[in-house]
Amino acid sequence: MPKRLTIIGSGPSGLTAAIYAARANMEPLLFEGFQKGGMPGGQLMITSEVENFPGFPEGILGPQLMSNMREQAIKHGTSVLMEDIEEVDLNTYPFTLKSISGETYSTDSLIIATGATARRLPLDSEKRLWGKGISACAVCDGALPAFRNKELAVIGGGDTALEEALHLTQFASKVYIIHRRDELRASKVMQKRVLTHPKIQILWNKVVEEFIGETQLSSLILRDTATSETSELSVVGAFEAIGHVPNTGFLNGQLEVDELGYIKTVPGSTKTSIEGVFASGDVQDHQFRQAVTAAGSGCMAATEAERWLQERAGL
Ligand code: NDP
Repeated sequence: MPKRLTIIGSGPSGLTAAIYAARANMEPLLFEGFQKGGMPGGQLMITSEVENFPGFPEGILGPQLMSNMREQAIKHGTSVLMEDIEEVDLNTYPFTLKSISGETYSTDSLIIATGATARRLPLDSEKRLWGKGISACAVCDGALPAFRNKELAVIGGGDTALEEALHLTQFASKVYIIHRRDELRASKVMQKRVLTHPKIQILWNKVVEEFIGETQLSSLILRDTATSETSELSVVGAFEAIGHVPNTGFLNGQLEVDELGYIKTVPGSTKTSIEGVFASGDVQDHQFRQAVTAAGSGCMAATEAERWLQERAGL
């Protein structure tokens, strides 16, 4: 028997969709993923304090917020599977999904809420030293003994980079932010915190050309984007925070995507180019990308899936 609704993704969007669908007695099945597209729970699992999710005036830790949402989804009747979906067939109905362990699942409607993954610098030295001083998650790795009281670098000029830099000041003796332009992309409030922080120095107009180190990162070769001059910066840790790519590989081109690869949805809706398939959260939003907007669109997707199934049954 096909499920009435299947949800792929366990970030704020997928879990909010699950809460709404479960409360509407749709008995949703949710694939929370395992390895693909980051850890189950999504990007908030690698965030520390979340200060802007409504309802938590003192802030809440990202993993705690996700644990609460998961518990709420299960409590209302969501079945959760810790499996990656590797392939989908959206051209035949009911839709079919194949997991990485080879199981197939059939569903009458589908919500894709697979989010986006952190981008990485395409350098051989980056691959070689990944996990040996290079990371994409200051919250996960910043407190490691190797980084304590040492000089560290964060690459990027967005909110994530600044948040990571601020987090690292708890452990590091100094944090450099390496940004390719002379202006930050991050919000004004974050800029103010960073620009006035005594442990943080911004290196403007710089890109990383090479990561140096035998078994552990020891320095970075930087190139000035204005003058092309190169310089060496001694750091034992480098944290990349250069944006994200949407997790849509498993769709194999079956849904329309925009020029950046994000799933196209009908404006004001979560409807995709295939009827009965809805997309919510960061996988279809590169503009706002907030936990609260992801959760909001998850609610929309569950509501639209429910209506679509009712209309279909009524035909
Ligand atoms: P962004 O896309 O906002 O920023 C990415 C940064 O990386 C930019 O400064 C960009 O430079 C730089 N960059 C991209 N590619 C490269 C490259 N190849 N080499 C060097 N630098 C590069 O991503 P974020 O992850 O920072 O933020 C994503 C969204 O999440 C944003 O909307 C942000 O506001 C939000 N966010 C909100 C938080 C909060 O509210 N607490 C916390 C974290 C994120 P350039 O500026 O030149 O393009």
